[in-house]
Amino acid sequence: MVFLEDFTRVSTGLRLPIEGRVERCLRCGRSGIEGRSPDGIRLVIHSQTTELLGDGMLVVPRDCCAVPLPSPGLSRRTGKDPRPPGGH
Ligand SMILES: [Zn+2]
Repeated sequence: MVFLEDFTRVSTGLRLPIEGRVERCLRCGRSGIEGRSPDGIRLVIHSQTTELLGDGMLVVPRDCCAVPLPSPGLSRRTGKDPRPPGGH
C-alpha cells in the first residue's frame, strides 16, 4: 500500500505527530515539512509517498525544495557593531 501525503494543503504552524512542524518554504512559499537529504542538505518536503513494507515504512519525497542552511561562518553583521549590546 502506498499513501501520498500532500503537505502543501496543511496550514503552516501545525505540528504533525510524525512529520513535525509544518513550515513555509523559503523557496516557493508553499507549506511543507522539514526533512534532510542523505547528503545532509536541509529540505522542505511538500509531498511524499509512504509505502508500508513488511518490516517498516519507506518514505520517498515526491516534491521538495532544498533550503541551504545559513553558513555558520557568515554573520548577518558585516562589521563590528559600534553600539553596546543589550539595547534594541
Ligand atoms: Zn518549496
